[in-house]
Amino acid sequence: MELIITDADIVTMAPGAAGPARSMLVRDGEIAAVGPAEAVRAAAGPGAALLRLDGATVIPGLIDAHCHVSDVGYLAAAADCGQPAAPDIPAIQSRLRKQAARTPAGSWVTGAGYVEYKLREGRHPTRADLDAAVPDRPAVVYHTSLHACVLNTAALRAAGFADQQPDPPGGAFGRDDQGRLNGLIFEGPMFALLERNLHHDLGELGAGQRARVVDTAGRRLAAFGVTAVGEADLRRDSFTAFAEADEAGLLRQRIYGLVVHDEVDWLLSSGLRGRRSARLAAEAVKIWADGGMSSRTAAISGTYPVPPYGSGILYFTRAELTELVRTFDTQGFQVCVHAQGDRAIETVLDAYAATLGPASANPRRHRIEHGGALYPELLARAAALNVVIATQPGFLSGLGDGFAAAFPDTCDQLYAIGSWRRAGLTVAGSSDAPVISPDPRLGLRDAVLRQTGDGRVLGPGERITAADALALYTTAAAHALHRETELGSLEVGKRADFVVLDGNPLTTDPAAIPGLRVLATALDGTPVHQDGLTFPS
Ligand SMILES: [Zn+2]
Repeated sequence: MELIITDADIVTMAPGAAGPARSMLVRDGEIAAVGPAEAVRAAAGPGAALLRLDGATVIPGLIDAHCHVSDVGYLAAAADCGQPAAPDIPAIQSRLRKQAARTPAGSWVTGAGYVEYKLREGRHPTRADLDAAVPDRPAVVYHTSLHACVLNTAALRAAGFADQQPDPPGGAFGRDDQGRLNGLIFEGPMFALLERNLHHDLGELGAGQRARVVDTAGRRLAAFGVTAVGEADLRRDSFTAFAEADEAGLLRQRIYGLVVHDEVDWLLSSGLRGRRSARLAAEAVKIWADGGMSSRTAAISGTYPVPPYGSGILYFTRAELTELVRTFDTQGFQVCVHAQGDRAIETVLDAYAATLGPASANPRRHRIEHGGALYPELLARAAALNVVIATQPGFLSGLGDGFAAAFPDTCDQLYAIGSWRRAGLTVAGSSDAPVISPDPRLGLRDAVLRQTGDGRVLGPGERITAADALALYTTAAAHALHRETELGSLEVGKRADFVVLDGNPLTTDPAAIPGLRVLATALDGTPVHQDGLTFPS
């Protein structure tokens, strides 16, 4: 089967490409030719199908190097408590009431997506707020960071949390002025809770329904042009759901799994390490070094001027983290450590330095996930270690005003993508969805403009060109996933994963990039999303 795509403005992202190509030949799912129309036609057989694009733009399939696909699918069924959909706490309450009516007995009533500083009240909802909406059964609302959540009284009871209880290691409880739990839970216990609920709710579903959870997330991502994803939270449950979707032909992205560190033993004993298929692989390990940026729990060297105050949460000592990294490195894994605050990033760099030695090129491409406060003094060390960064430019518009409040002195140095690239680091683009939308067009725009929701520019010197922004989500992300020989650019011999847009993101006004329409998304030359463009069958 051959397909000629022609009359197109093809942005190949190939190094040293002379300029946009006009035509591309897909053969057996791979790119067989790309260039001027005559040359491509000459390379095709007589029976090749033809797809004329009337000047539309083709870019490589977009790669989201760090996304929680299973959470996107799981939380798609939760009440949307994000802003602006739910502008205040009464709106969240009304959404929870509706959600309760459609939640099966035995499952928790679930909402997700709020940001307290975007709510009209400017605070987190409390246990009492949730009790007023759902008095008689467990209810939870997850903060958009997925580093915090609020429980009602029934949920606190079901989770075994009591008022007199001290804060657990690696986590914290919110309390009222009498010291009673106010329902807010940060970090460790919140992760355990989400994992338990996801495990329970996926377990209640049959294989077909589980595959549909993955399909829901996959459709959403495909509509944004995403063709490959680093799944930043792969566990036994989610692996099963992906594998079932893969069997059913429902995987619309290539899933590159970062297996949660405490499930590596399962991965090794299951024989599932490596590539399961062309669309599902488990090759890396994920570790969390600290908390989140928008939940103000990232481990920083000073103290936060905003609630919950403190200096954030660090999960491991330097020695513990080094031991973990060394073990996984010895086992041949790529290690990807979530590190947001400067105190956490320093610990990760120490662990990498101790593991890699002084003159290493970092052959396994160990990564720092996010790297929010990777300040200049840490950057030189990261560059010397050749650490790969998987970061989220889209946080700048989605959460940037909160960063400015939490980091009044250093907010211009957060997510310093321009400096990181100038220092020679490989910087991969990602969304961390469902923390923010998985739409990479937002990240492309934000990497260029760095504008917060209120219009403030964070770190004007860190802005990059549109071409460099596109590289974050193509060539650099492919490298971060060890897939640069197969993905990331439209070159002969690579997989025919591509996106058709109604305009060229490199020449469009950057503010208008999110408005570019995704006409089609293709994997192996076959459409996984079509909107106004029909492929010849
Ligand atoms: Zn994440």
